[in-house]
Amino acid sequence: MSKKVNPQPPEELTGIKSDKPKKVAAGIPAVVSSLKHIREAMPIGRGLKTLGKLNQEGGVDCPGCAWPDPDPKERSSIAEYCENGAKAIAEEATTKKIKPDFFKKYDIATLSEKSDYWLGKSGRITQPFILKEGQNHYEPIEWEDAFTLIAKELKALSSPDDAIFYTSGRTSNEAAFLYQLFARHFGTNNLPDCSNMCHESSGVALSQTLGIGKGSVKLEDFYAAEVIIVMGQNPGTNHPRMLSALQKAKRKGAKIITVNPIKETGLLAFKNPQKVGDVLSSGTSLTDLYLQVKINGDIALLKAIMLLLNEKEQATKDIFDKAFIEKNTVGYQAFIKDLSQYNIDELVEESGISLAQIKEAVSLLEKSSKIIVCWAMGITQHKNGVANIKEIVNLLLLKGSVGKVGAGTCPVRGHSNVQGDRTMGIWEKPKEAFLAQLQATFGFDPPRHHGVNVVDAIKVMHDQQDKVFFAMGGNFLSAAPDTEYTAKALQNCRMTVHVSTKLNRSHLIHGKVALILPCLARTEVDKQANGKQFVSVENSMGIVHTSRGHLKPISKHLLSEPMIVACLAQKTLGEASKVDWLKLVENYDAIRDLIEQVIPGFENYNKRVRQTGGFYLPNCARDGDFKTLSGKAEFTVTDLPKHSLEADDFLMMTIRSHDQFNTTIYGLDDRYRGIYNERRVVLMNQEDMKRMNLKSKDIVHLYNYFEGVERVARTFVVVPYDIPKQCVATYFPEANPLVPINKVADKSHTPASKSVVIKIKK
Ligand code: SF4
Repeated sequence: MSKKVNPQPPEELTGIKSDKPKKVAAGIPAVVSSLKHIREAMPIGRGLKTLGKLNQEGGVDCPGCAWPDPDPKERSSIAEYCENGAKAIAEEATTKKIKPDFFKKYDIATLSEKSDYWLGKSGRITQPFILKEGQNHYEPIEWEDAFTLIAKELKALSSPDDAIFYTSGRTSNEAAFLYQLFARHFGTNNLPDCSNMCHESSGVALSQTLGIGKGSVKLEDFYAAEVIIVMGQNPGTNHPRMLSALQKAKRKGAKIITVNPIKETGLLAFKNPQKVGDVLSSGTSLTDLYLQVKINGDIALLKAIMLLLNEKEQATKDIFDKAFIEKNTVGYQAFIKDLSQYNIDELVEESGISLAQIKEAVSLLEKSSKIIVCWAMGITQHKNGVANIKEIVNLLLLKGSVGKVGAGTCPVRGHSNVQGDRTMGIWEKPKEAFLAQLQATFGFDPPRHHGVNVVDAIKVMHDQQDKVFFAMGGNFLSAAPDTEYTAKALQNCRMTVHVSTKLNRSHLIHGKVALILPCLARTEVDKQANGKQFVSVENSMGIVHTSRGHLKPISKHLLSEPMIVACLAQKTLGEASKVDWLKLVENYDAIRDLIEQVIPGFENYNKRVRQTGGFYLPNCARDGDFKTLSGKAEFTVTDLPKHSLEADDFLMMTIRSHDQFNTTIYGLDDRYRGIYNERRVVLMNQEDMKRMNLKSKDIVHLYNYFEGVERVARTFVVVPYDIPKQCVATYFPEANPLVPINKVADKSHTPASKSVVIKIKK
């Protein structure tokens, strides 16, 4: 009788140590922490050599977030990376290995009782492994046999739509393009990706209002901005090099307004470890006005600010950029009419921000026209995520702050190539023009009906048997909402396949047959028939540039992501495809030539990607040429979100600790927040704790009852924290079991992980 496999991280506590939250980010502690993680993962020489190549011209692109590199002339030759970039390198370039004896020793159920931290630190997977039906131990399999088996299962499906091809945001442009080509040639648009769970709300809102689903600013715009608003984002942990840009912007006179329920250290002050002056001083104070909004109080705050700005406009006629509004926008009158019916007291109440602070924000904005708004998951992962971004755009349009230097939209991507993957066609809702170009270029008829996004993919796997789930990277189970529900979905599959570098919980919650296909890491040399290859990625600002590995692969049994896709496509499609898949991966220039033929903006791809710093993709919003349905930038009217909470209800937001990148757990500390050696924590307002008769370090269980279904995540430590009343924060994936599969953002279907109603019980 096989033992129960646990889809959730084990409920064991590791022994919390608390301290005061830090007042300044980075500095020498960041250097010390970086070196500690490198030293624990590999010989220091290998580590320093790899760090020396990180984000350098001709070097390796950081597998962490998608914050852009400065212009090559301005890059630091010492260290063009942050602490979390160093941790990302330690994670993938580690010399620890998982070999067959590891899986002989540990069965699946035993592994599932290990923490995500332990699983991730077990090392790089060195060869392909299979978990046969009814077995409890993974065992080695030859690549040829693996491709044959997967192809057999795919071809045995009654419909291509019974296959789901998931993509995680580290996949390179070359691999992503081949992957979507294979899936569509196979006959499905089932191409959900991690963007569905993060910035999909940004894509939907920006495409409708500005004509492109990407941010409009360049890095240089930060240095010309008058006001930078940072909303629902914690760059100190999730995009740390952004702090250097904010520091530089401050020194050029910019004012920074931060909107976040939590006082995040990285937005308070920053010490650039490469600047002696910084290290010896208290660093650069960043935020001028910190607005600790209630969870999901952003729209109320933005409406309050715009309502007061409009009152000033009506009085002085010199607040709004009316020339810009008349020439470039539609919907202004309807927007102002709707805005005017709001009551400021109600907006103050719903936002949780005092009228005095709102007036301070107004005074910083009223005379400014070069405004940048940056945001991340704290804005996108709500039922009203799309509306949040539409209100951000409304504010920018009022001030004429789009399509000019020093101004615009800046959704900051959390995964190094998540934007590139979408540009390559990794999307369940491809446009007709793209499909027609695929047909013209490759001579097959791609499916026109849309596929499933992440949430819909989980539902079809949950409700229907025997799907084939294929994941290019990532940790689907732990990244997804409603962990127990998602686990059942994966266990319902006929086959689950993961292309991975490291072990994670998704390998343990599997279909009847499961395979792990280990790929080359980004830091490793990718040698193909025509020699060493480089790949390319696209950062948050739309720059496409190269990434070259330089380390000897950790095992001779690894294949590159493009090679894995090519072999599987060859095996599955065989004579039915005119594409010479294996030829394409002899030299990736051939793949880039095809991308150039299919996707606008990649003209002379192979030449331009080799130029210093790479090249910018076209961006209509950046150019002030708004390719919307109306041909103009669009003001929109949104509703005011309301949360009718009972007295013992709390609005929970899931967050990352400082030792975490998405679901990868680098360590058990959250240094900036003063939390050490524990991940099962719930950050609570002290008055709420008193009201709930809870004290620091009490152990509690968390419950969600959405749609009458009880979801529970047990054993969390209460941590008193500076957070608005009836708002709490927890880490994911530990709290993802509480995020309901059906609680998603309107239109974008992004799981609403940032506003989950929970109850807290001892
Ligand atoms: S800011 Fe992001 S991309 Fe840059 S080094 Fe840090 S983690 Fe990597």
